[in-house]
Amino acid sequence: MKICIDSPVSTLRGVGPAKSASLAAAGIVTIKDLLHYYPRAYQNKADIKTLADAAVLCSQPLPAEPGGAEKKLSAPPCAFLLTVAGEPIYKVIRRGMSILRFRAFDETGVCEITYFNQPYLRDVFHTGSTFRFWGRPTMERGVLKLTAPVQEVWTEDTVLPPIVPVYPLCAGLTQKYLASLIRDGLKAAAVQMTDHLPPNVLQANNLCTLGFAITNIHFPESLEALESARRRFAFDELFCTAAAMAYIKTGKRGEAAPLLTKNDLAPLLAKFPYKLTGAQQRAAEEIAADLGSGTPMCRILCGDVGSGKTAVAACAAYIALQNGYQCALMAPTEILAQQHYSELGPLFESLGYRVALLTGSVPAAQKRKIHAALAGDADRVDFVIGTHALLSEAVSFSALGLVITDEQHRFGVNQRALLREKAGQAHTLVMSATPIPRTLSLVLFGDLDISRLDEMPPGRQKIDTFAVNEGYRTRLIGFIRKQKEAGHRTYVVCPAIEESQKKKKPAENTEELSNIDFFTEAVEELPLKSATEHAAMLQSMLPELNVGLVHGKMKAAEKERAMDAFYKGESDVLVSTTVIEVGVNVPQATLMIVENAERFGLAQLHQLRGRVGRGKAKSYCVLVSDAVTDTSRQRLSVMCRTNDGFQIAEEDLRLRGPGDFFSSEGTFRQHGGPALVFSANCSDTTLISAAVQAAGTLIAVDPDLALPENRLLGVYISHIMQSSLHTIS
Ligand code: ADP
Ligand code: MG
Repeated sequence: MKICIDSPVSTLRGVGPAKSASLAAAGIVTIKDLLHYYPRAYQNKADIKTLADAAVLCSQPLPAEPGGAEKKLSAPPCAFLLTVAGEPIYKVIRRGMSILRFRAFDETGVCEITYFNQPYLRDVFHTGSTFRFWGRPTMERGVLKLTAPVQEVWTEDTVLPPIVPVYPLCAGLTQKYLASLIRDGLKAAAVQMTDHLPPNVLQANNLCTLGFAITNIHFPESLEALESARRRFAFDELFCTAAAMAYIKTGKRGEAAPLLTKNDLAPLLAKFPYKLTGAQQRAAEEIAADLGSGTPMCRILCGDVGSGKTAVAACAAYIALQNGYQCALMAPTEILAQQHYSELGPLFESLGYRVALLTGSVPAAQKRKIHAALAGDADRVDFVIGTHALLSEAVSFSALGLVITDEQHRFGVNQRALLREKAGQAHTLVMSATPIPRTLSLVLFGDLDISRLDEMPPGRQKIDTFAVNEGYRTRLIGFIRKQKEAGHRTYVVCPAIEESQKKKKPAENTEELSNIDFFTEAVEELPLKSATEHAAMLQSMLPELNVGLVHGKMKAAEKERAMDAFYKGESDVLVSTTVIEVGVNVPQATLMIVENAERFGLAQLHQLRGRVGRGKAKSYCVLVSDAVTDTSRQRLSVMCRTNDGFQIAEEDLRLRGPGDFFSSEGTFRQHGGPALVFSANCSDTTLISAAVQAAGTLIAVDPDLALPENRLLGVYISHIMQSSLHTIS
């Protein structure tokens, strides 16, 4: 039988039922899956070090490891070409524990090599044979050592691959097994991999072909080839996602939606105690145009916390109601729904409409009444504000014209699918407080039209922000006390809930050691502050204050009680994980302290900072971090420099790549789509914009992907969208 790309991996030699099961556990079922099982890192063995180099490297001590037992001097892992100096000594130390030790040399020196529990290596190492070793050299009492290095036989005429992949492993799989299987898979099927990127796109952006990329992502010919493969894949992910989004958007244009042509906002605007900002006005006009177009509005309103999204939502709702349709506004939490209701309820009642609040805690009898009033014609509720209680089966609308969701990314996938079902032909408006860099809008929200509120209402105070280290602890305590004395309150955010959440150091495993690690973020591994302990510490240092605590593992009622106590001023300090509600308003809170600030994305820090400065009093944000790397420091300094969420988002993209945005904002995720693996860590902003722009241009020219050169892309994209449909159901 001829092997093809969709054949099961078991058609390859050496894959029996047991291996098949192990591979399946790693998500590898077909040869295609196998070829797309990417290394998580690489060992760069092109650069062979001498033992003299190693001795020098070891004499430059790495930063001391806290709690490290014996002081060893070590260098990063590297490759050596060494000859075995004498027959290995094999010893069984105790039951189940054996040791194999020998000396090996190159022209510059000698070192001692040790393996544990690998008796079969006795038959591998013999005096005079040469190996390429890969390991982390250490220097102990003047002796250079390698412990359990990876070894490959070397002879004058062997060509060993210069860069060796390191795969994520599952039980039953080893690096050597995976690498050789992938080699076989490439041999059998790589030629069948047709490139879905159109040739002109490859050429214009100087990208390598899929065949080259897939071969070199596994077995790079050189560092340059590896870089070129990674670049291609990053471009590929962004380009295809943006193109898929644009394609979905074109599809939606074909449907019909309520025609909402009456759009006189004057009576509503007259009720506002302020004039709309230019940005609000623009957004309202864009919405009015959508609603009057006869095709469904699919729009996202992006605006920082406090940019006035509610007023724009009110404009949209008012248009729907004016045209005799109903509007539903859905918020992710009860508190947020209530806040919207208390603001918009009286406003719309005064304009002659009936407004209702529908949340989980509304009594059953009241709920039934609202259900009837939403479905009926007599005494119809025109505007319903609520939580996911709106998605209940019992809820039906007599004439739903518009659905607005606040912070949609906080709804689960199922809830969003239900919402789409409920919305039917209605127009949709999504509100998001996460500022998204312009470059990424098309990747994240390309299926939506975007309105940006990039202008704050006048008179907003700047929140003074400081980045400090542990050395400021005492002063910081004093600062909290000072807030209390002035009648104000303090938020403290910690990254972990309790002791057990503190990240453990990954176990050292030589096979996993590598020096080109693309897929793990370079986060500084500082000890994490836990909310529980930190709250106890603060309480003991501030005995005269009340310190509250709220975190995600608490019961909903407990959480609510803690938040409520802070809201009412019964507690002065609220220590929390990041669960504190996005829109909750405590105007007396004037100080936001973020512990382990290096652990948070800038967008998230910015969100947190937005909790304070909501009243008249001057407010502050203190970012506590002992981070020393340049990136960490630069990121925190961005926060100190500006309060503009969009600018912060752009800087975050530049400093850390788009990963944080892909994980924090769920609007994209609802479509499934390709995993954004390579692009998440791509800090080449030029490449990102090039990919997004190329996708935009392509869809503008060929919206149905009907041109011959785009046909393969069309197939690929519809495949992406099909698998997305699976993800949703
Ligand atoms: P968000 O975008 O975070 O939802 P809100 O809609 O809650 O922001 O608005 C934040 C505050 O700004 C509210 O108190 C609101 O009354 C006020 N606000 C909104 N628009 C304006 C404006 N154009 N001028 C002055 N204040 C405004
Ligand atoms: Mg809001």
